[in-house]
Amino acid sequence: NRDLSAREASAEHDVERSLRPRELEEFVGQPRVREQLQLVLRGALNRGDQPDHVLFSGPPGLGKTSLAMIIAAELGAAIRVTSGPALERPGDLAAMLSNLTEGDVLFIDEIHRIARPAEEMLYLAMEDFRVDVVVGKGPGATSIPLEIAPFTLVGATTRSGALTGPLRDRFGFTAHMEFYSPSELELVLRRSSEILGVDLREDGAREIARRSRGTPRIANRLLRRVRDFAEVRADGAVTVEVARAALEVYDVDEYGLDRLDRAVLAALVKSFHGGPVGISTLAVAVGEESTTVEEVCEPYLVRAGMIARTPRGRVATAAAWQHVGVTPPPHAPG
Ligand code: ADP
Repeated sequence: NRDLSAREASAEHDVERSLRPRELEEFVGQPRVREQLQLVLRGALNRGDQPDHVLFSGPPGLGKTSLAMIIAAELGAAIRVTSGPALERPGDLAAMLSNLTEGDVLFIDEIHRIARPAEEMLYLAMEDFRVDVVVGKGPGATSIPLEIAPFTLVGATTRSGALTGPLRDRFGFTAHMEFYSPSELELVLRRSSEILGVDLREDGAREIARRSRGTPRIANRLLRRVRDFAEVRADGAVTVEVARAALEVYDVDEYGLDRLDRAVLAALVKSFHGGPVGISTLAVAVGEESTTVEEVCEPYLVRAGMIARTPRGRVATAAAWQHVGVTPPPHAPG
């Protein structure tokens, strides 16, 4: 039943929204980013200036969108949300920019996927709060300069390397989001369980945190799945036993790796004898888009010490061989 699943998906979306931290104080972890951002915002507020444009980079689910909303809230400003792929034609961006009112925050998710002509329009907008709208075609085309209200652009990207130099240079503050530690994820889970009214026990929280791939969005998702299990198969309390049994049902392994992570490791070890192999070859082997493997799987597998990046490609570490259940050869990196 498609209707039902759409409704379920939107219910999940609402839950995720309800769990979003609203203020910098509520935002768990990322202490450096938080401190730096606080200074940027306070400094501008004290001077009465429009704060510099801000870029957040890092894997999905680490809080980039949440921070964009927090920035708007701390500034007492409205936020307009769009994404790189939605800005295919410069006209789309021009419309968005000319609708801004003074002090607004413009959030562009996946900003590395913005089309080139829109990106060039953005340069001028970021620098001079102005756009040149081209009217007409061919020799008769004229460009009309248009003033736009001073705003703060917040960009988010899972691939800062894919940003062009000129775009990157126009951000006054750039922050790279790191994976969260298990103890930070425990704090995220504690907060979420209070909002959702889940009876989350300390050992249960620790277990879920450990298996959340360093990612708050995943921690929250696993919490909801474990809650279902606790309510249906147990007395509602999320203990370590309940968490383990539930995560087994949902195919989340001991290290928090999901099915795709494991498929990537298995292909790397079994089909390519531990590598080195290029990311796109690896992606074809697991039947997934190479951007997904590169932006979602790989960063965590590297951080977990399962994959090493070398100039010749990706290599399985000894831990990866062991994880797949194969004895590592002597040349496997430790
Ligand atoms: P991104 O934009 O990086 O993909 P989001 O900001 O959408 O990530 O975060 C996904 C979800 O994870 C949010 O709805 C929020 O519930 C949770 N979350 C992210 N970061 C934090 C944090 N630092 N503290 C608490 N919850 C967080």
